[in-house]
Amino acid sequence: MHDIHIIGGGLAGSEAAWQLANKGFKVRLSEMRGSGTMTPAHQTEGLAELVCSNSFRSDDAQSNAVGLLHQEMRDLGSLIMAQGDIHKVPAGSALAVDRDRFSDGVTAALMAHPNIEIVRERVDKLPESGLTIIATGPLTAPGLAESIGTATGKDQLAFFDAIAPIVHRESINMDVAWFQSRWNKVGPGGTGKDYINCPMTKEQYYAFHAALMAGEKTEFREWEDVPYFEGCMPIEVMAERGLETLRFGPMKGVGLDDPKTGRWPYAVVQLRQDNASATLWNMVGFQTKLKYAEQVALFRTIPGLENAEFARLGGLHRNTFIKSPELLDGQLRLRSAPHIRFAGQITGCEGYVESSAIGLLAGRFAAAELAGETLTAPPREMALGALLSHITGEAEAETYQPMNVNFGLFPPIPGKTKKADRKLMYTDRAREAKTGWMAQPSLSSAAS
Ligand code: FAD
Repeated sequence: MHDIHIIGGGLAGSEAAWQLANKGFKVRLSEMRGSGTMTPAHQTEGLAELVCSNSFRSDDAQSNAVGLLHQEMRDLGSLIMAQGDIHKVPAGSALAVDRDRFSDGVTAALMAHPNIEIVRERVDKLPESGLTIIATGPLTAPGLAESIGTATGKDQLAFFDAIAPIVHRESINMDVAWFQSRWNKVGPGGTGKDYINCPMTKEQYYAFHAALMAGEKTEFREWEDVPYFEGCMPIEVMAERGLETLRFGPMKGVGLDDPKTGRWPYAVVQLRQDNASATLWNMVGFQTKLKYAEQVALFRTIPGLENAEFARLGGLHRNTFIKSPELLDGQLRLRSAPHIRFAGQITGCEGYVESSAIGLLAGRFAAAELAGETLTAPPREMALGALLSHITGEAEAETYQPMNVNFGLFPPIPGKTKKADRKLMYTDRAREAKTGWMAQPSLSSAAS
């Protein structure tokens, strides 16, 4: 008999299983690879296989948000971080790993644990009872995805990201850009000044169009053969339809009065608030397959975005994820069926480390529940808390897109400070918050 069923033996599921087993709970871990079903991206039957790059990104816990997340996970006894540290390969200030040894290490640790039973099976339906963690990732098998869709409502489950770039508010030049909704329209809860507008002259627009057409794009893999929906067509595909198409689409300037000229600009780039604390803004309609370096170079030619810092760049790829801000409570439980938790990329975080971090939290929350204890969520000042709060409430549910951890998800540091100093202030504040959070009884022997 097991205490909890974890479905998916990727990064999140492996981490959740480890956390629960170390707290003394019996775990059944179901993984379909090894039972005759593969995902389109995995190559092996190993648990926690890294499907693409071998990097956990920056390991700098002083001035980088993902480095800070590494540190917090290590403090909580993370299996993924422990195996990453054992199997690291030289990569400067980044943590990169030997992918096969890393996956073998995770698999061996889980197999050797007396509280974990690994079952090679595909699960096609959400369990109706019993504590469960769903950690089936961005390539969740179709049967289970269908069952999740039925339980949550079809429009609550996305099958691919059409991501528009997201910009840090503080990097937008407001001497050039201005706040205004088109026609000064006041929507529900709005002010008539809900968008940031970046104006373009005719010459600037034509130069932008030409550079967009010339820019190098990433190609879909054959298994990512996803049809475009009109509502989230990449800008370069729209641009191919004609020189003026964008100007009658997402870049139309009508109804927007540039305070500098008192007139409508020839074209405009609009940004919409992306999180409740208004630190992040997304470029409306700018989903794109341009290569990352090309995006940065091109988007910085937009007046007002000369010094833009991007919390994430645009992209389009296959990814199954739920609208977590609406569906999950602060403990990662499905509101409509609280015996089920979600963890990993299917919750709408992005990246190996973030997926593992949410697996760690789901495991810890479930362990506390099984022990009859309360584990309060990590505060938003911590990297774990910032990521969790993005997933479970802070992000706008309608435009919800997977996101890596970044300082834009943290409560802003008040006042003006140099960028390098501000990063240190974020991480100092996070460490202080962590000390307080980890003092609660259910965490006092956290790394055990
Ligand atoms: P996974 O690691 O994918 O684990 C999910 C597991 O569930 C898999 O083992 C799968 O076999 C299993 N499963 C699925 N359905 C079922 C079922 N019905 N029953 C039983 N088992 C099931 N992130 C990065 O940081 N760097 C990258 O370079 C990177 N590249 C990526 C490339 C691709 C092609 C994709 C799709 C994603 C990439 N990601 C990358 C994003 C993401 O961080 C990883 O996908 C990460 O592995 C997600 O962790 P997870 O535990 O949520 O899912």
